[in-house]
Amino acid sequence: MSTAPKKNAPPKNAPAKEVGSAPLFDRVTLIGIGLIGSSLSHAMRRAGLAGHIAGHARSERTRAKALELGLVQSIHDDPASAVRDADLVIICSPVGSYAEIGAAIRDHLKPGAILSDVGSVKQAVIRDLGPNLPDGVHLVPGHPIAGTEHSGPESGFATLFDGRWCILTPPPGTDAAAVEKMIRFWQACGSQVEVMEAGHHDKTLAITSHLPHLIAYTIVGTVADLEEATKSEVIKFSASGFRDFTRIAASDPVMWRDVFLNNRDAVLEMLGRFAEDLTALQRAIRWGEGDKLEALFTRTRAIRRGIIDAKQA
Ligand code: NAP
Repeated sequence: MSTAPKKNAPPKNAPAKEVGSAPLFDRVTLIGIGLIGSSLSHAMRRAGLAGHIAGHARSERTRAKALELGLVQSIHDDPASAVRDADLVIICSPVGSYAEIGAAIRDHLKPGAILSDVGSVKQAVIRDLGPNLPDGVHLVPGHPIAGTEHSGPESGFATLFDGRWCILTPPPGTDAAAVEKMIRFWQACGSQVEVMEAGHHDKTLAITSHLPHLIAYTIVGTVADLEEATKSEVIKFSASGFRDFTRIAASDPVMWRDVFLNNRDAVLEMLGRFAEDLTALQRAIRWGEGDKLEALFTRTRAIRRGIIDAKQA
């Protein structure tokens, strides 16, 4: 078995600090070390943002892997000891686990620490982490709009956040210096940063991310229910469109279950609008209204061009 270091990994337990520059945080704790947690470790070490990176994950396998890959310098099997003395704690687990994690770490957070996260929904995060935080702990939730369909500590890479947006949703009254520090943190990880109200975030992401995932899960699920003969042809000729849906529908089942359960109202609202538009298209096809189809497809093509121009393709 090869023992060569992984392409993305620094030497084992290398200090998370650039020579000659003070790190932004002395000690950062990652709770959850999957795609996003491990990518954050890579990005933090690339920019020298942390004097020490501590970690906690649920399983022994992930904890051992995180150490082996040099993603963390210390690993803890309980979240409370992982956050002790941390200046920044970032929760990088599925949002359905936040309430339990919040209860476990709350009383162990250092005064002055920033508590943040990367979850794909934001109102539920404030609901689950906000109450009963000790005085002097600053909650600055975040959501990097970057990802892949892969999971686990091996799937992360340093450039994941480069050029991508990260949205911060501090609750009203959050310490401005803490928000400013998190803006600098994400910019140093390669992101562009926008500060937004949590409810607005959830509505926006319901249409740009959550609904597309739901549609992909539905289409791929429909194929899964087809007869074997038809299914094998779909797979054979998948390059004609289906393939792109299968990539999205391969995303982590637990993470996405938690997204839909925790952004229910916004997703249902967008789903209602989508269903109406789909019915209108169905009608246009039934009645041969080619001009309506062409007009819609022309508008959607312009949206794609806009995304390319904004370098978010
Ligand atoms: P992932 O690769 O599946 O990793 C999840 C990590 O969380 C694993 O280390 C897992 O530990 C840990 N974990 C799960 N339940 C836990 C618990 N109860 N206590 C402690 N650790 C726990 O997931 P991911 O893609 O990095 O997603 C993490 C977060 O990022 C989610 O909230 C998601 O909404 C958000 N996000 C994801 C994407 C994306 O494209 N994937 C993009 C933006 C934001 P074990 O391995 O030991 O089970």
